[in-house]
Amino acid sequence: MGAPTCVAGCGVRANALNLSISVPVVLPTPTTASNFGEAVYAKELRKIAASNFGIRVKTGKSFFRYGFIGLAVSRLYGRRASGASAYRAQGWCRVSRAADAPGARNPLAPASGFGFNPRVSSFSVTILGSGSAGNCALVETASSRLLVDAGLSARQITMRLAALGVTPDMLDGILLTHEHCDHVAGLRVFCRKHPLPVYCTRLTAEVLRKEELAGHADVRQFQAGAEFAIKDIGIHSFSVPHDAVDPVGFVFHHAEASLGFLTDLGHCTKLARERVRGVKTLVIETNYDEKLLQNDTRRPWAVKQRIMSRHGHLSNTAAAGVLTELLGHGLNRAVLGHLSRDCNTADLAVETVRAQLSAAGMGGDGASGVEVYCASQSEVSPRFEVA
Ligand SMILES: [Zn+2]
Ligand SMILES: [Zn+2]
Repeated sequence: MGAPTCVAGCGVRANALNLSISVPVVLPTPTTASNFGEAVYAKELRKIAASNFGIRVKTGKSFFRYGFIGLAVSRLYGRRASGASAYRAQGWCRVSRAADAPGARNPLAPASGFGFNPRVSSFSVTILGSGSAGNCALVETASSRLLVDAGLSARQITMRLAALGVTPDMLDGILLTHEHCDHVAGLRVFCRKHPLPVYCTRLTAEVLRKEELAGHADVRQFQAGAEFAIKDIGIHSFSVPHDAVDPVGFVFHHAEASLGFLTDLGHCTKLARERVRGVKTLVIETNYDEKLLQNDTRRPWAVKQRIMSRHGHLSNTAAAGVLTELLGHGLNRAVLGHLSRDCNTADLAVETVRAQLSAAGMGGDGASGVEVYCASQSEVSPRFEVA
């Protein structure tokens, strides 16, 4: 422990090998170098353009040019305009389809594959990173954006948001599940750079204050079990059994859709089961594979016991059991996360969950089944539409 908005017109002219895009853009307010000016951001945007769209973006070295390119890429991602008070500026970028586009995929770019929706949907969740080394996710609607936890470094959070066309000033707040460092490690630096409200329980807020984990962030407290809303996202918190001071899970509601967040819990209580019943998408922890944990020689027995305890973490099998119980209640996607680096693999987690879902009679990734995806520590997940 110690722990945009772009838009206006877009002229497109294309032929077989060359695609020119001239993009008049609207910059958000305030537009500063820190919004768009980081060289690394421009570099990432170029990679995103290459890996996701097969195009090469030619840039100058001007920070503002990078900004325009960022907005152009954001537009390619389907971001919509907002902000009547935005500064207006005319910019352009020229891109060409790269016959020799690099084959290697940018690890920060959203993964392709099932569930990938490059356009901002009405309600979506994207895992910026998940695992023992740091957890952070983005929940968004067309007009609201929330982070769930800030366990990656502030720099990583910013870069991974940029890969989605989201800048920190577009966020409406950060919700914390609990105070463990893999959930708050980047909080202090991120909030120092980008003052945002941080929502957590009173006891969690006390730890943040005592250990100076949130710096001078605007911490807003709620009681575990409370229901509240941030803009157009309804939030229902609930207690979970974990070895933290006051850990919670969340169910997010928007329109008719709901999304559950169930990580860092030793077992799934009746209350937690009831809360997540009926969600369309469930982000659930599959922390460890029982055999790998038992055979692990690096962890002392006491640590293994803590992980396996009723206030530790969910194993692949335990998570699969929770998901199986949700079949028939509207669940159509499971996003597995918080995998132990040493005692689990994505393949094991997915196979275990799929096998148990199939055995229960409704598994698989078919239209009538449950789509199973495993979030990664190092890559941004697809943007999952919750519907
Ligand atoms: Zn924890
Ligand atoms: Zn954790």
